[in-house]
Amino acid sequence: MDINAIYANDLIEKLELKPPIDLYELCKIFNIEIVKADLKNAYAYFRIRKGRKVIFLSNSIVGTEKEKFTIAHELGHYFLPNHLEKIDDMYTRTDYMYKNERKKIETEVDKFAAELIMPSKYINSQLERISLRNFRQLRELAQKYQVSLTSLLCKYVDVNSETMALLCYENNKQKWQYKVFDDFKFEIYTGEILNDEPEKYIKDTLNNWLDESFQGTVYQVVFELKKYNMKLVLIQVKYYY
Ligand SMILES: [Zn+2]
Repeated sequence: MDINAIYANDLIEKLELKPPIDLYELCKIFNIEIVKADLKNAYAYFRIRKGRKVIFLSNSIVGTEKEKFTIAHELGHYFLPNHLEKIDDMYTRTDYMYKNERKKIETEVDKFAAELIMPSKYINSQLERISLRNFRQLRELAQKYQVSLTSLLCKYVDVNSETMALLCYENNKQKWQYKVFDDFKFEIYTGEILNDEPEKYIKDTLNNWLDESFQGTVYQVVFELKKYNMKLVLIQVKYYY
């Protein structure tokens, strides 16, 4: 397990937390307040002042898919060793911090957050049992854990023994790709989704995703998040050896 995830795991063990993890309860235990506010440049940030611990949470994400992961992320800044002093860094010296260093910290915190809301000891065996063909069960599992579909699908890609990637489109433009890089021998195409029929398990015979030299089969499922004008595309690659 990733070292940052281990810290989340320790917390789950120590407090005997069971999914769905209630982050508001967890904050109470540690006297961390959650204050909802109109924030301009961030979804959230953590601040400790005069012994008062506060997570400021942007009104723009309250009640949305992003809320839970964002709170878990901020808790990562609190619980991971050496991250608290860096929080202060981030808000006082942001401009001077090297982009890469900042990116590294945020990635570590995200690993903690993912483990906290989707504890491996509970969810991994459940995810491993779901084949892409039965993708509807992934939505059900997200509901059961009260996490966003996005978070759950990232975890699915992590846990899956097949070569997979998750692509996110917003207003039909690709925003990001999430994949286990080592397994991917090919770059994934970044254009539009050619066959974007949602909620269907499709064998992509035209190969919309990988370059022509790719030898194998690609399967695809498009999840639609209408509220956010988002599409999440799971692709699974099977190489011919
Ligand atoms: Zn952060």
